[in-house]
Amino acid sequence: MAGFLVANRKPVFIEEVITLKTWYVEDAGGGCRAFGEVLVLVCEETGEVYSARVPVTWTNKMGWEELVCQLMIDLMEKAQASRDDRFLVCSGNIFHTYHKWLSDHGYNWKTHKMDGLAHEAAENEFHRMVVEAGFPANIKLADRDYRSYYNEIEKWVSSDPARKQRYWKDREVRKKPAQPRYVLKSTLGRARNCHQCNQRIPPFSPAVELKYRQNGRKLRYFFHPACSPVKPLQCQLDRLEVPWKGGQLTGILVPCPEQIHCALCGRPVEPGEKTFYAYEDNRLLCGHPACFANTRSTGGIC
Ligand SMILES: [Zn+2]
Ligand SMILES: [Zn+2]
Repeated sequence: MAGFLVANRKPVFIEEVITLKTWYVEDAGGGCRAFGEVLVLVCEETGEVYSARVPVTWTNKMGWEELVCQLMIDLMEKAQASRDDRFLVCSGNIFHTYHKWLSDHGYNWKTHKMDGLAHEAAENEFHRMVVEAGFPANIKLADRDYRSYYNEIEKWVSSDPARKQRYWKDREVRKKPAQPRYVLKSTLGRARNCHQCNQRIPPFSPAVELKYRQNGRKLRYFFHPACSPVKPLQCQLDRLEVPWKGGQLTGILVPCPEQIHCALCGRPVEPGEKTFYAYEDNRLLCGHPACFANTRSTGGIC
């Protein structure tokens, strides 16, 4: 199915377009005190534009950059962007977690001073959102004078209390947290209660931990991975899947808190040693990873 696709000036082989695209990632609206930011994922060769809107505020305690990263992952999925594609990403703070995620997942990417279609698409999407809310469509960004354009939007939003309530940007939720707030890890030796379903999460089980500060207090909650309101971007869970009685047994690898005896070889496992824990029905099995191991899943990043 080889052929030519004429995109912009230069002809491009269709095969090449399918196997390797260059995606531009840009945002708009960050400087406006009203409305959430708009994110775009744009391919110039094909003219594809995918966009997402960051809400004005949110309540799930997710960090701003975490939320942006999640929205970008969703856009990439929608666009069927592949790991072979190239990503040129705006260098702004808003994308810092996303930059890290791209690196951690082996994507070919770098920061880029945005111009052309991606920049235009982001501005257009922001304008479209503002107009959908009722802002006069004829007041547009002119000569890249963002301040005047945003002033008009801010004036329009704050002129009506109900409108202001709905569209004023929440700066508080956008403050950078010290670390990702949702992390996939394990309960270690303690049972926890799921903050969502209120059911027990047994010791040595996968769990999502949510940690944040509120009024100077450190708060920490646990969720069953399926109950977590947010898909964690960070993973501190080392999983191991082993063939077991004709099927599979999935467990976790964590340092042993106290001396135990390996369920397979019977020899002791010393405290601090990496140990395999898994549930067979409701019975906790543990022991040397090497005694259980055969096929090992990757750990590290989700
Ligand atoms: Zn739960
Ligand atoms: Zn053993």
